[in-house]
Amino acid sequence: MVMRISKISAYRVELPLHEGSYKWSGGKSVDVFDSTIVRIETDEGVEGFGEACPLGPYYLPAYASGVRAGVAELAPHLLGEDPLQLGKLNVLMDAALKGHAYVKSAIDIACWDILGKVAGQPVCHLLGGRYGEDFVLYRAISQESPEAMAQRVADYRQQGYRRFQLKVGGDPDTDIERIRAVAAVLQPGDRLVADANTGWLPHEAMRVIRGVRDIDVYIEQPCLTYEECLNIRRHCDHPFVLDEVIDGVDVLLRGRNDLAMDVVNIKISKFGGLTKARQARDLCASLGIAMTIEDSWGGDIATAAIAHLAHSTPTPLLFSSTDFNSYVTVSTAEGAPKRIHGRLAASLSPGLGIRPRMEVLGKPVIEVS
Ligand code: MG
Repeated sequence: MVMRISKISAYRVELPLHEGSYKWSGGKSVDVFDSTIVRIETDEGVEGFGEACPLGPYYLPAYASGVRAGVAELAPHLLGEDPLQLGKLNVLMDAALKGHAYVKSAIDIACWDILGKVAGQPVCHLLGGRYGEDFVLYRAISQESPEAMAQRVADYRQQGYRRFQLKVGGDPDTDIERIRAVAAVLQPGDRLVADANTGWLPHEAMRVIRGVRDIDVYIEQPCLTYEECLNIRRHCDHPFVLDEVIDGVDVLLRGRNDLAMDVVNIKISKFGGLTKARQARDLCASLGIAMTIEDSWGGDIATAAIAHLAHSTPTPLLFSSTDFNSYVTVSTAEGAPKRIHGRLAASLSPGLGIRPRMEVLGKPVIEVS
């Protein structure tokens, strides 16, 4: 018997930040995240939820109202389709709307939630299995003065985090100071990443990597293009992470052939949902490429989806993951994973293991049935 999608709704939720704002390269910042939660209902009464939350409109080619416009565009094509046949559903979405991976992500996640509920299994089991009791998180450190960033790291260290991702990609001399100031407050076993988020020109990146040569720091996405990053990589003896330019398996394989990175950042919405992010994850795992598994941003539902993908990744290959729901002041669901000592665990309940707070979601902004 085939289950059928009977209704697709979308909700808009604002997610303010405990720190007030989040700042990264090039003066970009967000004060309140604009998140879209997608609800998929079926003719058998089982429903699923997914979330997509771009990091503002200027991080990746994705923006918040684009998620909703895209869901409205796709929804009529999906009514009557089986949410459990996820490969086929992704082929259908790609045929109906070219590109726009981030639009498809929340729909795909909601269908995984349904699949888990029908199977009576947490999504992480269906994505490959649960490795260990929990997994390691990093904390993103918003771009501020070197002293302020060092203080943030010291504070988040007190909360249990041991991995820190500094938002650099600004003035190269100040960035060298940022990395040095933070490195000075770290303890043995801690790990430091300097994420430029494409913000350095090649000559600036070259100066920064020389300026921090004696420090144990990973360099993440220094420049805008793949070729620029590859050139920096070849002049750099730090471990190297690619993020923004890795948005599909083709560029992942190119990066593997060029030995362009040691770690890649897999964001669920950058790849288009759990189905495609899992494909990239499994490929990386087979190739021995470590991963940070996360999304662009989000609240409880995105964090739950991240946790299922991260927890189902073989532990040695999971460099880090994120608990975005601890950065924001609004809770959109019960049952979402909560950080303990800088670590997180996926829910053991069927599906994503979350129950949305419908009073927080409010009235849907899109309803297609
Ligand atoms: Mg990054």
